[in-house]
Amino acid sequence: MSLIYALRDRYPHLGFDDRPLVASCDDGWLGIMHAFLHDADKAMVPGGTFTLQQVREKMGGLQMHYEIADIAPAARRAIDDAHRQASARSFHVCEICGRRGRLNNFSGLWKVVCTEHADGKLGKGVPFVGPFDVQDSYSPEADPFVAARPTAAEFDAAPIIDGWLVEEQGECGSRPWLYGWFFGKPDIGDGEHGHTSPIVQMDDMVPPRWVRTDNWLYRLGIHYLPAEREIRYWAQKLRRRPLAYGEPPGGSNGIEAMLIFLRSTGRLKSMKIDRMEQAYREEEQDQEISRGG
Ligand SMILES: [Zn+2]
Repeated sequence: MSLIYALRDRYPHLGFDDRPLVASCDDGWLGIMHAFLHDADKAMVPGGTFTLQQVREKMGGLQMHYEIADIAPAARRAIDDAHRQASARSFHVCEICGRRGRLNNFSGLWKVVCTEHADGKLGKGVPFVGPFDVQDSYSPEADPFVAARPTAAEFDAAPIIDGWLVEEQGECGSRPWLYGWFFGKPDIGDGEHGHTSPIVQMDDMVPPRWVRTDNWLYRLGIHYLPAEREIRYWAQKLRRRPLAYGEPPGGSNGIEAMLIFLRSTGRLKSMKIDRMEQAYREEEQDQEISRGG
């Protein structure tokens, strides 16, 4: 796993020293680690010190070393419980990709992997048939954090949403959902635009590759920033045909050509197009700043 930055901003009640933290495990466990740090951060609100010293894979599972001091016994218990949960979860989550996994033995090396990653760089894994520690009451099926993750086979069979966007502002405080162009979903034509049911869980890898909603699992295709996406959405809509698979929404002529096209149709108020263009220019500028350009 790469170096982890910005932990200090994300978890303000946890102490991190100035050295970058090196985690010696793969990225598939980032979500588990963040869920643990989130719980630890909550437990540290009343005060005390928490120092994360090491994140690593040991005997196939995730192990974190931390030091806590000057905190109430209940807070210490909460953190230790969260760590036990993180470790238990890691035995069911592919260390490489974060989908559902199981413990495999690769010629003596233990690693939790999905079926896709059980046959790769490390050779062919032999699944561990168990049982795990009988004292361990953890059930992955009862833990939504793990249960919502797709298996590799389920992922491969899932429909795709291209040009997806999370709609955070649901009506009446409902959960967020996604908009996008659908492919491979039986009840909507390929390349039609629509929205999903509310999100249950989204992949924690960057960029995310799947989302589980109340009704479906989807693979996530290409993603655009909101202002660019809005221009693409209208350009595609006014072309009056479904999106072809693999084609960028709005056509592949670039945003400038799309803006000219939108103005030429006369079907949108020019004020609306001006507003979209303005938002797009600002988005571009922000991108440049964040790229350090
Ligand atoms: Zn995997």
